[in-house]
Amino acid sequence: MAADGPSSAEPPETDGTLIVEPPKKKAAGLASVRSAFAHMHKHGHSVPSSIRILGQMNQIDGFDCPGCAWPEPDDRAALTEFCENGAKAAAWETTRHRLDWKFFQRHSIDDLARQSDYWLGLQGRLTQPLMLRPGSRFYEPIDWNEAFTRIADSLKALDSPNEAIFYTSGRTSNEAAFLYQLFVRAFGTNNLPDCSNMCHESSGVGLGETVGVGKGSVTLNDVHEADTIIVMGQNPGTNHPRMLTALQKAKKNGAQIIAINPLPEAGLMGFVNPKSPAQILSGGTQIADLFLQVQINGDVALLKALMCLLLEAEARSPGDVLDEDFIGLYTDGFAELRAHLESQDVDALIEAAGVARADLEQAVDIILRSRKTIVCWAMGLTQHKNGVGNIREIVNFLLMRGSIGMPGAGTCPVRGHSNVQGDRTMGIHDRPSKAFLDRIQEVFGFDPPREHGFNTVEAIHAMFEGRAKIFFAMGGNFLQAAPDTDRTAHALENCDLIVHVSTKLNRGHLVRGKWSIILPCLGRSEVDSQAYGPQFVTVENSMGVVHSSQGHLKPANAELYSESAIVARLGQEVLGPETPVSWCWLIENYDRVRDLIAATIPGFEDFNARVREPGGFHLHNGAREREFNTESGKARFTVNHVPDLALPEGAYRMMTVRTHDQYNTTVYGNDDRYRGIRGGRRVVFVNEEDILEAGLTAGSKVDITNDFGGEHRIAPRFTVVPYPIPRRCVATYFPEANILVPLNNYAAGSYTPASKDVTVRLTPSA
Ligand code: SF4
Repeated sequence: MAADGPSSAEPPETDGTLIVEPPKKKAAGLASVRSAFAHMHKHGHSVPSSIRILGQMNQIDGFDCPGCAWPEPDDRAALTEFCENGAKAAAWETTRHRLDWKFFQRHSIDDLARQSDYWLGLQGRLTQPLMLRPGSRFYEPIDWNEAFTRIADSLKALDSPNEAIFYTSGRTSNEAAFLYQLFVRAFGTNNLPDCSNMCHESSGVGLGETVGVGKGSVTLNDVHEADTIIVMGQNPGTNHPRMLTALQKAKKNGAQIIAINPLPEAGLMGFVNPKSPAQILSGGTQIADLFLQVQINGDVALLKALMCLLLEAEARSPGDVLDEDFIGLYTDGFAELRAHLESQDVDALIEAAGVARADLEQAVDIILRSRKTIVCWAMGLTQHKNGVGNIREIVNFLLMRGSIGMPGAGTCPVRGHSNVQGDRTMGIHDRPSKAFLDRIQEVFGFDPPREHGFNTVEAIHAMFEGRAKIFFAMGGNFLQAAPDTDRTAHALENCDLIVHVSTKLNRGHLVRGKWSIILPCLGRSEVDSQAYGPQFVTVENSMGVVHSSQGHLKPANAELYSESAIVARLGQEVLGPETPVSWCWLIENYDRVRDLIAATIPGFEDFNARVREPGGFHLHNGAREREFNTESGKARFTVNHVPDLALPEGAYRMMTVRTHDQYNTTVYGNDDRYRGIRGGRRVVFVNEEDILEAGLTAGSKVDITNDFGGEHRIAPRFTVVPYPIPRRCVATYFPEANILVPLNNYAAGSYTPASKDVTVRLTPSA
């Protein structure tokens, strides 16, 4: 790739002027209210219309926020149970702007590829199916029949069902996800990669192996009741803003919070609740009682050092630190872990973590106050080669003190996209369990494929090598979410057919297969009307609560299909008489889909009745009850090794992060308010001393390069921004920097791309 500009798959720089200000020390406040309404206004909503729409979000009879998966409290606020970034997501979806056929006549895919995802999304909602024919540079409107015929003919013409890949984003409802996996398995493959592969797969694997369930064990009430909350590798102020309300409540109840992160994010430091005039007047709540600024990927070393210090405390005061009863009754492997920890050089661990010993000792003092400890984490821990090891170390730490399966204690992986957890529960998985496939066979009377399918990394390899020929995406922006952008683009371009089910245009639509089709669908906020009238769908939040979501807004276009209806039509067209279910009958009334879910998936018995209870119901979680569904029936201590953090001379460790105006790949604006960035995204945050040492200055333009697996990758023309980040660590925004993340650099055991640990060099741009 040329070093004078981004590749066509990579997002271009924004048009604005980059302004750099000091980072903020507190999140939310009145600025978040102003921002929420400014985003609604940008998409054509007056203040009354904004209040009407936002007032339905996260309410019992309203629609679930399409942003993150943070749960609603039992005592949810009428009309205001949303955050600034939830409002941005709602504004983005409910925009009054529409894309009509004239837009696609005016703009070729080459024109559109010069635009950012932000610009593309601003143009409005997709309203009709679109097709890009072989050799054409212009999408053209087609009718639904032609779209489904092309897709069905292409799928049926494959030599093997395994040549098709069916991707899912975490927005998809339980009903659509269940039908989708059923269709895909009846078609004959387990090629069901999903966005979870790229974010919390390491959590699912690490937790599954050690405590027998790949989900967190705590409820929202546990967070409120905890005495110590450790927030690791997470930026809640931007990515899960209502979590700050829960942390604030926990603090009010006496909790102490330890934040562990390479960046001192505003939301980790302080929070001004915008709903409380008293908070606004008083300047808000300090969130972290202790901030440990770990170096990137220093978490295993830090957790190990903490556990060593706990063992030292136990030696000083036997019986007061370890929970010997719990360890003896509920776990195995502690003797091996203890021997391993006793062999460690604590000072070396502390140095590898990059924190001060006195700070770690203060952390131990906080932790020893009580056993009611919760560890929360996000992608700062999962997106490393040792991502699974990070999670296992968290489990070790909690098990030592018996801090799991009791009120106010446990594991809390904080999920990103709103139904990513539910989609997995519904069977969106490239490696389904035998038990799940057996249930499919019993209920539907066909033998589903038993061999594993492709996860995201494997799917990209398969497309690149011509082993997969059709890519079907149920939502999302796969091109921009995936690592190694150029390679992913080439992989997609090899396909005979690419299909995207989308509400809005994104850059993923502009990387073409031989044929490309976009199927526009309903958003969550819109009425989903089927033969039996308006339908609701269900989702599962980050804490295993399944609840309903119902849109009340008029659809962007009367002819839009719901995601469930798209799957049903596919099932009917592709499977024909071989079909295991009557697809059209099923989607007349989504209760029928839920009855099938209830018959197939344990925990969903009596689904239709229980989900109609206000707020829904909690799924059973073994770890919460100290029932550990592992081979031995006990929770497992594990021994994990500290990763080698040595960097070559002159190199840096890069992690990718989101801006505050962004949710996953959706870019709502060009600012990152909390980090003091306005009007630009191609920035690299560098420690001031490193800038000096490298002969750079604030504002220097640099090319960021990575060499891995014999390939040289370049992300050109990033602006250097001095930032309080540990030495030799740098941070950049994704998707701009995804081009530097090698496809084959992923977490052992989970295949999660190691987007938080990329070895890079900074070279002044020509
Ligand atoms: S915290 Fe998450 S789910 Fe809640 S409103 Fe904000 S973005 Fe939406």
